[in-house]
Amino acid sequence: MPVEAIKVENLSFRYNSIEVLSNVSFGVEAGDYIGLVGPNGSGKSTLIKVILGLLEPVRGSIRLLGYPSSDMKAREKVGYLPQKMSFFNPNFPATVSETVALGLVSKKRFPKRMDAADVAAIDRVLELLNISNLKREMIGDLSGGQQQRVFIARALVNEPEILLLDEPTTALDPGTREGFFELISYLNREKKVTVMLVTHDMGTIGQFARKLLYIDKEIIFYGGFDDFCMSEKMTAFFGPASQHLICHRHE
Ligand code: ADP
Repeated sequence: MPVEAIKVENLSFRYNSIEVLSNVSFGVEAGDYIGLVGPNGSGKSTLIKVILGLLEPVRGSIRLLGYPSSDMKAREKVGYLPQKMSFFNPNFPATVSETVALGLVSKKRFPKRMDAADVAAIDRVLELLNISNLKREMIGDLSGGQQQRVFIARALVNEPEILLLDEPTTALDPGTREGFFELISYLNREKKVTVMLVTHDMGTIGQFARKLLYIDKEIIFYGGFDDFCMSEKMTAFFGPASQHLICHRHE
């Protein structure tokens, strides 16, 4: 049996005394693409942060590619695109290339100068994202869609095997959104990156993800779209209209 990319068992998490994840268990096969959905405040971002090891669960275990999630061997194989770029000051005087280089820094135990391999890795990822021409631009001068590509590049520069994406809620124009989804699908299909994407866009996720993980503190549904769309239990839970919203584009 191949090692699962993500294995979550009996996971519970609390902020202070309030439980926001309750006994969550699921596994993600390597190369799969999971759409993580649920109402506002249902624990999606928290789940991603617990998987990343940014938050400590009260109970349960997480393994990434067979390693405990706290293990460096696991951590360096995971790329993360946070929902909010609030830590990011658009006036920060950094070029695109320097911003992407930050994705390499966390891998190194001690800060050191970039070597030729680092420079090559940055060039490769910029090319992959089709932003080589922006390399020397200041990050603050770019459009929202271009900045997002730079942050995806930063998440990818380590060549992660798992990509955890908290879809930005900042309104992106439809073309940029489409480009974003196409890029993630490409990475999943061609580069075999395992993807877990938090999305509010229930209407289109069926076009991209292979499985749906619907949580509301606990797992409500986990499985393929066909199973979701045919499930009478889910029709009863969501109502036919909402179920249809998720299913109608996934013919
Ligand atoms: P989602 O991503 O599904 O919108 P979150 O994981 O952000 O949900 O939040 C789950 C619940 O935890 C919400 O009720 C939210 O208010 C609460 N919460 C999130 N972050 C914190 C925090 N830092 N401290 C206390 N409560 C939090």
